[in-house]
Amino acid sequence: MNTRNTKQKEIILHTLQNMNTHPTILELYDAVHEIDPSIGQATVYRNVSKFVKENLVQKIPTNDGIDHYDGNCNKHYHFVCQKCHRLVDLYGNEADYLFGEIEKKHHLQISDIHILCEGICNECK
Ligand SMILES: [Zn+2]
Ligand SMILES: [Zn+2]
Repeated sequence: MNTRNTKQKEIILHTLQNMNTHPTILELYDAVHEIDPSIGQATVYRNVSKFVKENLVQKIPTNDGIDHYDGNCNKHYHFVCQKCHRLVDLYGNEADYLFGEIEKKHHLQISDIHILCEGICNECK
């Protein structure tokens, strides 16, 4: 990989990690484009799918068919508001406890959990 590609890759990853809004690929592209207009949409797409495979980035598919991306790989879950479509981070030992119980009951080992709660957020209530 040449230096230019490495640099672009770093910009894309850092931009995503600094956004806490769970952007769609287009929102991320807009943000990246502001930093470095020479980075094209295809480059953003290609790199982000790589990051997802490498577990550097979380992909969050939603019911409206649009994938959102999260540069925060700490264990957490998501809530999506059905009115304003905002994605909110949920941290909770409750869910960890629940899945611990499921592992015990079914004698299996869960390595990855994708939870998307849906409803109405505090501001839209
Ligand atoms: Zn809302
Ligand atoms: Zn998140």
